[in-house]
Amino acid sequence: MVLLCNSDVFDCIYSFILKQICERIPMYISNRLSLLKPSATVAFTEKARKLQKAGHDVIVLAAGEPDFTPSRAVREAVKREALEGPTCYGPTAGYLEVRQALVEYLERTKGLRVNTDQVILSNGAKQALFNALAALIDPGDEVIVPAPYWVSFTAQVELLGGVVRIVTAESSNGFKVTPEQIHEALTPKTRCIIFNNPCNPSGAYYTADDVRELTEICTGAGCAIVSDEVYDMIIFEGGPYLSPAVVSDEAGELTAVVGGFSKTYAMPGWRIGYLAGPEPWIKKVTSFQGQATHHPSALAQAAALAAMTGDQQVVEEMRQEFLRRRDFLLEAISGIPGLCVDVPPQGAFYLLVGVAGLIEALPDAEGSTDVSTWLLEEAKVALVPGVEFGAEGFLRVSYAASMEDLERAVQRIDEAVRKLGL
Ligand code: GLU
Repeated sequence: MVLLCNSDVFDCIYSFILKQICERIPMYISNRLSLLKPSATVAFTEKARKLQKAGHDVIVLAAGEPDFTPSRAVREAVKREALEGPTCYGPTAGYLEVRQALVEYLERTKGLRVNTDQVILSNGAKQALFNALAALIDPGDEVIVPAPYWVSFTAQVELLGGVVRIVTAESSNGFKVTPEQIHEALTPKTRCIIFNNPCNPSGAYYTADDVRELTEICTGAGCAIVSDEVYDMIIFEGGPYLSPAVVSDEAGELTAVVGGFSKTYAMPGWRIGYLAGPEPWIKKVTSFQGQATHHPSALAQAAALAAMTGDQQVVEEMRQEFLRRRDFLLEAISGIPGLCVDVPPQGAFYLLVGVAGLIEALPDAEGSTDVSTWLLEEAKVALVPGVEFGAEGFLRVSYAASMEDLERAVQRIDEAVRKLGL
């Protein structure tokens, strides 16, 4: 038998009461975060991968992550950095050598002329985007977001207390917003627009003329432009790329370009992206990043440096392969009852498939989420529902997946749909 002295008894009672309190009172979560949902693209992918790990033969066409591997030169650079590079902290905005290479890369690839104080490297384009918005938005500020939109655009604005003003890009206009729509959406409270070209999830591509028109409307109203350009190297049709940042000097003063290396160089897991823009904006972003996360990993920076300065043929090869996959899907999906593609994507590696026919045919289905759940169960194919991108009635297919997976997925979807008697 164990004898308890007074202080032991007190400790026992104290921990018993503490345990009871902790179990009964839910953990306090801030108002800001309590309404935050997980990223749908990430959540669907993680769910599907979990099923795969548990032995289910699921084909994952959910997240947009290239199935290629980075070039040998890039991998060697990371290895060298790991074996020989410094392991201490570096500059918050990224190593000067990498920023200098980025400055040259931006001028070479899109004619954007900035200096090393106008760029900052981050843990992926997602962080670069959040940084850019954090430096811009006060609670109550309005942010124009053309829909369909990437899931994190709206979530990030709301996190910062901003008010999202959705402007719907109709499929009849190629999923592109018109200058008139933007004009109408501008109010005295508008702080910025999040512009994404080519667009995730629709693959819509704004031509140079489109970009000029939209940019002039924004600059005329003093509206900043946060330009997500992560798919700028994956364009199939529609002419050369134009960033709003190079439309005019005025536009350059109001635009921050969000970019990354995940999509162009197939290194999503290494988490490296950047922001380029006016110096005061980048300076504040650098303070913010210095407080929040500091610089991205030196290994990822070494990868980015090697990617930017290495042979660019790999980029063209991947683009060609994405084009081949897009064409395959367009052809294959057109033969499946209940599915349709109104707007062939002109860039990025996503496709919005209309599923109105399936929503009607499936008993109890109310929208794209139900169709996505049904396809996961019946066809074992994971696709993200369009409602998550502000595109109800559609499913997003990511064709950053092998041709073999795409062929099998299409076959399975076709079989499942035909069982419905369509
Ligand atoms: N951007 C990609 C997508 O839309 C990767 C996942 C994410 O970060 O959203 O699927």
